[in-house]
Amino acid sequence: MEEHPARPDAFCMIGGATGVPARRHLVPRFRTTLAMTIATTIDAAHAACSAARRAGKRIGLVPTMGALHEGHLSLVRIVQAKSDFVVVSIFVNPLQFGPTEDLSKYPRTFERDRTLLAKEGVDLIFAPTVAEMYPSRATTYVTVEGLSDRLDGQSRPGHFRGVTTVVSKLFHVIEPDLAVFGQKDAAQLAIIRRIVRDLNIPVQIVAGPIVREPDGLAMSSRNAYLNPQQRKQALVLSRTLRTVQERFQQGERCAEKLIAAGREVFTAEPNVRVDYFLVVDPESLEPIADITGQALVAVAAYVGATRLIDNIVVKA
Ligand code: AMP
Repeated sequence: MEEHPARPDAFCMIGGATGVPARRHLVPRFRTTLAMTIATTIDAAHAACSAARRAGKRIGLVPTMGALHEGHLSLVRIVQAKSDFVVVSIFVNPLQFGPTEDLSKYPRTFERDRTLLAKEGVDLIFAPTVAEMYPSRATTYVTVEGLSDRLDGQSRPGHFRGVTTVVSKLFHVIEPDLAVFGQKDAAQLAIIRRIVRDLNIPVQIVAGPIVREPDGLAMSSRNAYLNPQQRKQALVLSRTLRTVQERFQQGERCAEKLIAAGREVFTAEPNVRVDYFLVVDPESLEPIADITGQALVAVAAYVGATRLIDNIVVKA
């Protein structure tokens, strides 16, 4: 299931007068709302970015799957401060969803997203269809071996391969000078830094801090799936991480003991099922036994059928 965000007015004329009814000369390209352009094709997005580059602008990209919240908008603001042409991609990427995951029900709120991004002063939304991004059944994948099967990659086989493939495509289409990713998806961030390094992609990767609801829940498009009771239960993730942080601040450096303290907090919410709860190196995602430098404490858990993730970084 996929949504084509462009409405019929998202068409502009290309080609000259040939006597063929005009409608047949209409191809989806881009629409400009105030100063914001919406591109639904790779060619249109590429052309808009090339024009910006020729005008001497520094291009910043925020890749998203839409259903935007303050977490996404915080990344837009980071890009805005560091570039002159802000691109936000909105694409629910089927390659990163497993066969039993929530691809078809993933929230799609394009009109609302567009309004929010226009208010932020975004220059270009790139919102392609699945057919535009993956026109053929044969697909070239970009995979980071060794990292892609850790954390979320372990419980979501193929997930990171989907992420690295789509992000590589976005980097080629937009050719951004910088791209911002949320610390919320810490493993994703590590893997993207790795493809950029390994494939010498000329883009600066910037991490944006996790934006939380006032009660501590990390903002996520998937929070929309939670009923009021589950919404309360979901707080156990951030509560657990706070407990780990407190223990760490009190001097505990043994990962096993920190995890044990965190797991204790989870026992208070029997309806929340822990998927992983790990202390790892933020770059290699390898487990750490004793924390001597930086460590990523990452958790994933199912609240009902909804899988949520959260993390903190601690520093010895
Ligand atoms: P998504 O639309 O879920 O693919 O997320 C798009 C980008 O927003 C990713 O780089 C995420 O890490 C980032 N993001 C999602 N939630 C948050 C949050 N609560 N705070 C900061 N960044 C976030």
